[in-house]
Amino acid sequence: MKDNKPNLITKPNTTLNNKTGPWRTSRPVTDYNICIGCALCSKICPEACIAMVDVPDKPGKKQPVTDYDYCKGCALCVHECPVKAIKMVADY
Ligand code: SF4
Ligand code: SF4
Repeated sequence: MKDNKPNLITKPNTTLNNKTGPWRTSRPVTDYNICIGCALCSKICPEACIAMVDVPDKPGKKQPVTDYDYCKGCALCVHECPVKAIKMVADY
């Protein structure tokens, strides 16, 4: 059956097809000199598009990396960061 509902999740295993990045008018940018790697932004993101990844030169340390294909620019991560390491910048 043809699906006439673009941008809605109507079938199992299709959430990755629903890219929410184009909704965004500004994007979060992290200052890694301020970030303490607490992972709160990663946990709070409603799109689950912030991954905590290993820092190459610092064993055991992790830092957030945002997948902009799915970041919708809601700025929740900015508001929740305890050390104000994330800023929104104009995107389009
Ligand atoms: S702006 Fe919103 S969607 Fe984008 S990374 Fe932050 S919490 Fe997630
Ligand atoms: S919430 Fe702030 S300090 Fe914590 S990992 Fe995210 S950017 Fe870094």
